[in-house]
Amino acid sequence: MSAFETVIGLEVHLQLATRTKIFCGCPTLFGSSPNSQTCPVCLGLPGVLPVLNRRTLESGLKVALALNCRIQPALKFHRKNYFYPDLPKGFQISQYDLPLSFEGVLEVPAAAEAPAFAVRIHRAHLEEDAGKLVHKEGSRASLVDYNRAGIPLLEIVTEPDMRTPEEAYRCLQTLKHTLQYLDVSDCDMEKGSLRCDANISLRPAGAKELGVKTEIKNLNSFKHVRNALAYEIRRQQEALSSGGKVIQETRLWDDVKGVTLLMRSKEFAHDYRYFPEPDLVPFVLQSEEIQAVRRTLPELPPARTRRFMEQYGLSSYDAGRLTSEKQLADYFESAVQAGGVPKATANWIQGDLLAACRERNVEILDLKVPAAHLAQLVLLVEHQTVSSRMAKDLLKAMMKTGEAPEPLVKRLGMSQVTDSGTLQAAAQTVVQGNPKAVSDYRAGKRQAIKFLVGQLMARTKGQANPELAHRILESVLKEGA
Ligand SMILES: [Zn+2]
Repeated sequence: MSAFETVIGLEVHLQLATRTKIFCGCPTLFGSSPNSQTCPVCLGLPGVLPVLNRRTLESGLKVALALNCRIQPALKFHRKNYFYPDLPKGFQISQYDLPLSFEGVLEVPAAAEAPAFAVRIHRAHLEEDAGKLVHKEGSRASLVDYNRAGIPLLEIVTEPDMRTPEEAYRCLQTLKHTLQYLDVSDCDMEKGSLRCDANISLRPAGAKELGVKTEIKNLNSFKHVRNALAYEIRRQQEALSSGGKVIQETRLWDDVKGVTLLMRSKEFAHDYRYFPEPDLVPFVLQSEEIQAVRRTLPELPPARTRRFMEQYGLSSYDAGRLTSEKQLADYFESAVQAGGVPKATANWIQGDLLAACRERNVEILDLKVPAAHLAQLVLLVEHQTVSSRMAKDLLKAMMKTGEAPEPLVKRLGMSQVTDSGTLQAAAQTVVQGNPKAVSDYRAGKRQAIKFLVGQLMARTKGQANPELAHRILESVLKEGA
């Protein structure tokens, strides 16, 4: 199995959320009735002229800068020629030899048991989306909807820097999180705003030269990407180790059957007969324009991670995890601003809150626990009003009702017993009622005190502060000895 090394590269198509299409003024709303958002330009009628949407260019630049890409000083569009019914012009306006940006890098932060790594970005260029074919089951005809034709896309191509499906998965996740910071797309894979193809090849371990690759399409979720790549590794391994070869081709992932299927033999760039788009003249991007876009960039995960470590004293793992997603990082900072102790707040988020998110398959903002409520909870534990054990139950109640923790503590009578007089009396009762454990303890079995602490906790309905209970029991045992 280890005779081969896997090489993976990704190609991501991102729909840029502009109000209008890339070369015309048609709206880009999702889910409108078919062909209601079209005009002669995006329908490719004769004699029409495309005009580049400035906002598209700005959004594309924003992503390119966030991915640490070099920006092309002179921009040029090309026609990529092919025939397909969803492409009314018979060509797609894209970029070829002078893409918007190139040579970037994406830093993928460390995961629980895997180190951080970097993926180089080969290029990111602008192009237009095609329309959509609708195949109705049972019908002999297919329908076409051109609403999507002309929606701006940014195609992001990575270098083949990933070695496992897991790395590809993490790269995509980091890319999506970075894009969400930029607010240039809803990044919704189900709506097709974020689409991914993967290139994969195998080569003998230690070889420099790349093997023959296949391209996998139809990957509608990150999970599909991981599963399809794992399948393709096995398929290529079998072919190569039995003396066969891998053919350069495009394959489709069938998630139901769990296999990749041949879609078409791979086309090459020259098949598309690229030539410069004569209706869009090449133009020079002024450095002031690039700088203006750079100034709109938010603080991105790598910088925010460093700041979280310095400002809040978090470990690099905690800081990296919290800043990976903008809403998580914002939530953490709001809770800290509301008084939450940073380290404890980080622990609650990464522990119970994210576990609840996974369990319910929702985002943290859907949990009915506003950041201010979490801050209150952290403080209740900090001030020993409730024990950490009780706080877990309190959080569950908060998620159920959406109530703030302080009134809930009162309503549910949850306050921790920290009054030593009350505990002293209870401890004496426990000691009198459990002579066996007491004599064990006095005979040197120090462990026996755990049983007595348990009894004391039970007597106080779990509301005793466990440390205090332990201390008081020790002193009662000493007195009676
Ligand atoms: Zn249009």
